[in-house]
Amino acid sequence: MRKYASGRDFTVAGDQARGKYYIFTYGCQMNEWDSEVMAGLVEEMGYTRASSPEEADLILLNTCCVRESAENKVWGLLGSLGRLKRRRPWLLLGVTGCLPQRPGAAAEIKRRFPFVDLIVGTHDRHELPRLILEAERGQVVAVSPEGRGVVEGLPIRRKSRLRAWVPVMFGCNNFCTYCIVPYVRGRERSRRPEDVLREVKELAKEGYREIFLLGQNVNAYGKGLQPPVTFADLLRQLNAVEGIWRIRYTTSHPRDFGEDLIRAVAELPKVCENFHLPVQAGSDKILRRMGRGYTRQDYLNLVRRIREALPQASFSTDIMVGFPGETEEDFEQTLLLVREVGFDQAFVFIYNPRPGTPAASFPDQVPHGVKVERIKRLLALQQAISRERNRAEVGRVHEVLVEGPSRTNPNRLEGRTRTYKTVILDGTPELAGKLVAVRITAGHLTYLEGKVEEVLVA
Ligand code: SAM
Ligand code: SF4
Repeated sequence: MRKYASGRDFTVAGDQARGKYYIFTYGCQMNEWDSEVMAGLVEEMGYTRASSPEEADLILLNTCCVRESAENKVWGLLGSLGRLKRRRPWLLLGVTGCLPQRPGAAAEIKRRFPFVDLIVGTHDRHELPRLILEAERGQVVAVSPEGRGVVEGLPIRRKSRLRAWVPVMFGCNNFCTYCIVPYVRGRERSRRPEDVLREVKELAKEGYREIFLLGQNVNAYGKGLQPPVTFADLLRQLNAVEGIWRIRYTTSHPRDFGEDLIRAVAELPKVCENFHLPVQAGSDKILRRMGRGYTRQDYLNLVRRIREALPQASFSTDIMVGFPGETEEDFEQTLLLVREVGFDQAFVFIYNPRPGTPAASFPDQVPHGVKVERIKRLLALQQAISRERNRAEVGRVHEVLVEGPSRTNPNRLEGRTRTYKTVILDGTPELAGKLVAVRITAGHLTYLEGKVEEVLVA
């Protein structure tokens, strides 16, 4: 009998190889991290990673339900995995993550895809080994309605050897009227700063150089912890960890981004000057109906204050088009704001009613055709701005952390600036994992090209 290193209160007979696993991941970085934890948990059981779903004995679909399109991908994939399961009847198939947590979804999975062995919500993910063993005897559904605190010490199999996701808090208390996240991820729970610090020190020892702190609203970090601690305090502690070169974080809520945090980012050399600040809309009427808690002017003031403190800062955002009641004038306010800020990058979405959220029953839904036409205009504008901002980088020198071969051209290397722009460059593979000074030679829509001038830290 073997007890898991994660200290979970279950044991399992034997630690012999149990076969191969494959994980599909949809959604945000928090889901990426959840999948890394699930990989750690099943590897601890004896599973090894499969290079394709066709050779797996355990397949997990780590799902997202923030938009209907994310859900539809899961429904489509389940159809084809049903065919795979007919060829490999011993295959264990699990649906995990946010979708099972959405009211009605677990029942829908059971009804439409009765061959699914395992349905596990976000609050039960750490019980996966026990649930897998149970699923070998028959279908298991584990969807607890609310998270019980924070579970520490879970095993993890990280994808990258250089950049590590580190959640600092889970859940969200904001209940923006369009968003399903608080319903599927539960209320805000922060990790204790000493636990985050211990993990980051371990990561530094293992050779990780960049940490990416995660939370739905990192600015709310620390609420409810004793003694009181803020996100800026946490950044100060992490900045002191030797071996870590860069600290990033996402997502910040513009309403809660205070002077103390701007000061911390400006003062702390390892904290990168890239600001992802989802604005969602440019019209005060729509922002009010979304329940965002700031006005267009508040947002513009925040960007101005950040630029005053950090003139080299880059900005990215999330924007939705076609929120209920959005008129042409409201949408033009969004276009104007996008021009005024000059975002380096924007993630744009068509508003999609999510069951159980207040906005889904607002009466004045915008017709689909209008949404499509608006998103096209917004995309065209943002693309022009992104290109222009990237072209303006030509001639400048950036500190780049080289990550490895480029995903689009394996003969070249790829890395990121502190401002989170991708840079493609030439160089030998030994540059991977090093900090280099790069002179930018070209700026494109989604990336820069550059020439290495100097190795800064090896
Ligand atoms: N916590 C983050 C914040 O406050 O902005 C974002 C979380 S959410 C997973 C990521 C993005 O999805 C949001 O910023 C929003 O633009 C988009 N989103 C959320 N609900 C949506 C919906 N019902 N329809 C379309 N897009 C949505
Ligand atoms: Fe959703 Fe708003 Fe919470 Fe972000 S802050 S996760 S958009 S409810």
